[in-house]
Amino acid sequence: MEGMGISEVVPRSRRGKVLNKAYFGCLSGVPTLNVTNGCLFQCAYCYARGYSQAPPEGEVQLYVNLPNLLKEELVKKRVFPQWVIINTSSDCFQPHPDILKIAYEVMQILLDHGIGISFLTKGLISGRFFGLFARFPPKILAQVGLVSLSERYWKEYEPGAPPPELRMGNIQKLREIGISPEIRIDPIVPFLTDTENEITRLFQELKAAGVEKVTLSYMHLRPAIQDQLMSELSPTYQKIIEACFRGQGWNVVGSSTKTKLLPRTIREKGYQMIKKIAEEIGIRASICQCKNPDLPGDLCGSGRVGNAIGKKTPIQLPLFPC
Ligand code: SF4
Repeated sequence: MEGMGISEVVPRSRRGKVLNKAYFGCLSGVPTLNVTNGCLFQCAYCYARGYSQAPPEGEVQLYVNLPNLLKEELVKKRVFPQWVIINTSSDCFQPHPDILKIAYEVMQILLDHGIGISFLTKGLISGRFFGLFARFPPKILAQVGLVSLSERYWKEYEPGAPPPELRMGNIQKLREIGISPEIRIDPIVPFLTDTENEITRLFQELKAAGVEKVTLSYMHLRPAIQDQLMSELSPTYQKIIEACFRGQGWNVVGSSTKTKLLPRTIREKGYQMIKKIAEEIGIRASICQCKNPDLPGDLCGSGRVGNAIGKKTPIQLPLFPC
């Protein structure tokens, strides 16, 4: 990954259970699995970079034995989970052949067992994945992370991820095989990506690509995110973030005991404006409940998976192999 200070993908062997239940927000109780520890995209606002178990700077650890472990774990189960969320703290489509190989194998194993997969990506989905997904459209819950079409935003906040126009291609290709991806507009950056012009341009493009639903969330801070932003953003954008969050205290939000939300008035006004534009253009925009506990919100695609799991509707295996 040129210019990002990240290039090394280090093979690692995982031990223990690979399907682990999420314990945060609307995903609580849903089995999750991560193909890598760390992510090549290195977004400036990524909360996972601040995890205590995050890999050393400049390294992404790839769990090379994951497909075998997953197969072994599934053999022991009498009841399969209905859905698995893949890569809650990394991305399925990081541009490295070894990562893509393991991600493909893991998805294939799950889908072949009748288990649905949910993922959120800022990467580019390649041809062979579309071939796999085309065999199981109802079992794929895809979310594309796309905050803005602004080049300034992309270069400041997500310089390691593919440019937004290329991510738009994912949407069209998924729709061609019968999958309607949801778009996650998160983190909305005040005074950069939430201007009427930027929002209108983004929603018009999304509408033209056939998008029906988006989930919205303004930026929030945790201590590690704050440090990353202050060391990676250019001075102008650092000042904007500092000014917006000045005076905001640390609160418990979801599983995080230290989160700073933007002032409620900024969020309320922004969401109202974005929802109005979305409605005029014909897209349903929901506010992410998990990241806006003080506002009326909604469930995103992953949240609906959590809801389904909460209703305890697992896939029952036949008693005897066919
Ligand atoms: S794509 Fe997601 S996991 Fe990867 S660096 Fe960006 S925010 Fe973090």
